[in-house]
Parts: sequence; C-alpha cells; structure tokens
Amino acid sequence: ELLHQAIESRETADHSPAEGNAPRDVNVQDLEEALTLGQIHLAYQPKVRCRTGTIVGVEALARWQHPRLGFIPPDVFIPLAEAHDLIDRLTLQVTEQALDWLADISSDDTARRVGQHALQETVLSLNVSARSLGNVALFDAILQRCRERDIAPERIVLELTETSAMQDAITSLDTLTRLRLQGFQLSIDDFGTGYSSMVQLVRLPFSEIKVDKRFVMTANDSEESRAVIRSVVELGRSLGLNTTAEGVEDGETLAYLDALKCDLAQGYLISRPLPPDAFLDWFIARESQREERRLVALAGL
Ligand code: C2E
Ligand code: MG
Ligand code: MG
Ligand code: MG
Repeated sequence: ELLHQAIESRETADHSPAEGNAPRDVNVQDLEEALTLGQIHLAYQPKVRCRTGTIVGVEALARWQHPRLGFIPPDVFIPLAEAHDLIDRLTLQVTEQALDWLADISSDDTARRVGQHALQETVLSLNVSARSLGNVALFDAILQRCRERDIAPERIVLELTETSAMQDAITSLDTLTRLRLQGFQLSIDDFGTGYSSMVQLVRLPFSEIKVDKRFVMTANDSEESRAVIRSVVELGRSLGLNTTAEGVEDGETLAYLDALKCDLAQGYLISRPLPPDAFLDWFIARESQREERRLVALAGL
C-alpha cells in the first residue's frame, strides 16, 4: 500500500502543475464536450530495443488539457469514459489521430527530412480498454481506418490492460483471435498487477507482454520487484512473446533488463511521452547522437 502511494505521488509529479484538484471536479458532461470539441490530444512515447537502443515503436497516450480545469490525467478520464459508455468513441478518436500521425511520420517526405527510413517501419501501440472487447464494430472500424490510410494492421499493437473484463475469456478469445487473424499485434499491458493467470496468457493470442512500471521503477531498490521482472521476462520468453519493460528511469535498470534479455524498454530514461512535433525533433537528435557515438567507437578501433 505504501509502495502504491509512493508510485502514485511520483505519477502526479509528472503531470502539469495546473492539475490541482481538477480530477475531482471533472464530470461526464465535461468529457462528452471534450470529445465533441476534439480536446483530447495525444502524446507519443518511444519504445526501443534494450540491446541496441534502436527505436521499434511508439505508444500513443491520450492527453486532455481542459480550458478551465487544466490537465486531467488519463487515469482519471479513461475510467470515467469506461463508466459512461464513452470509451469506444474516445478509442476511435485516438485511433484516427494516431493513424494520421503514423502515416505522416512514415511518409517519404518525413523520411527525406529525417534523413533515413527508420520510422517507416515503426510500430504504433494503441491502448484499448478491455471493456471494448465485446464490441466487434469498434474493431472493424479500427481496421477500416487502417485500410483508409494504407497502414498494415501488422504495424499496430493493441495494448490491453489486464482487468476483470479480460476474465470473460470466451468473448476475449473470440475477439482477440479475430484481431490476430486480421494481422494486429496484441499486447498485455501492466502485467503483474491484475487478474491474468498464466493459464489465460497461454490460451490468448498475445504477441507482447509489458512488465508494469511499478516493478521497473523500483527495480534498483527492491529484490521483490526484480523477482517479478525476472519471472515475467522468463514467462514471456518461454511463450515466445516480445517482452517490454515500461517505466525505465535510469541506466542501471536498463542494464539489468538487458542482462535478463528483456527485448524492449520504454521510460523517461529514453523519453517522456512527447507532443507529435517534439517527437520528430527527439528522434533526429537521438539518431545523430547515436551516429556520433558510432563514429567515435569506430575511430577508437
Ligand atoms: P499505460 O498504457 O501503462 O502507459 C504507461 C504510463 O506510464 C503512461 O502514463 C506514461 O506516461 C507513464 N510512463 C512512461 N514511462 C514512465 C517512466 O519512466 N516513469 C513514470 N513514472 N511513468 C512513466 P499516462 O500517460 O498517464 O497513462 C496512464 C494510463 O492511462 C495508461 O497506462 C493507459 O492504461 C491509460 N491510457 C492512456 N491513454 C489511453 C487511451 O488512449 N486509451 C485507453 N483505453 N487508455 C489509455
Ligand atoms: Mg499502454
Ligand atoms: Mg503499461
Ligand atoms: Mg500503466
């Protein structure tokens, strides 16, 4: 519980100072209005290979800056959307924005500007509420949005947080199998915190498992956290899944993950979630840094 509170307070520190007591004041009308007015925007957080630092993907994270109430964290408005049947509408808006952006950063134009093609293969992760799993129409709409932009479903990872909704294994299995057959990749988010059992994981067609950040952020100080990380990475590997650690905040943790052969890392050490334009700047700066280091290493040989 203490650990929980500590994590909670670090989370809040990340959000804008305008936050104040806004979350308590926000209501469903505000959210409905935000959806109608298009006030929900996205931040993008890169996902890199632990071993090489190469970027392989970006996760889209919903952001809501309310004109009066200030910054409302997704941990507040996502549950609100879920509770009031607004989540599918939100998911579709987020999907459209993120796909437009992905098409943009994958374009030949951007490749010319950035000086290479790395981003043309970048995979996009979208967070999807497990509550939506029963809604076939939503996923058909997502597939259609991909087709309209000529984006292969193979480039999309749908991240599902393990919740009690996923316990409804029959609906889940149907929907998830269908999504896999259509080409989408599926990821189980925040693993280690919820309801998932190993049994369920083996039965469901996931392609990635993400270790929850509460373990990763405390890896340096807690043997228990390290034990959870080790077993999740091992479980993922034995099931042939990509293993990803979220919440990587320092080099020591990254080195630890790499030693465990965890595939991918995400976290403030690499980059905070960034607004769309800042992302490209970050990418260009990072690539030139990497190139510089490569040349220095070559010269040293
Ligand atoms: P998540 O999908 O597990 O995303 C990771 C969260 O950890 C993000 O919080 C991210 O900003 C934060 N994070 C990443 N690296 C670090 C780090 O190194 N240190 C710390 N302290 N935090 C880090 P965020 O953006 O506040 O999102 C919270 C959750 O809200 C997400 O967790 C996801 O479950 C949900 N969410 C966000 N956007 C959407 C969305 O479009 N749809 C749905 N259904 N859920 C969303
Ligand atoms: Mg996620
Ligand atoms: Mg997560
Ligand atoms: Mg999370």
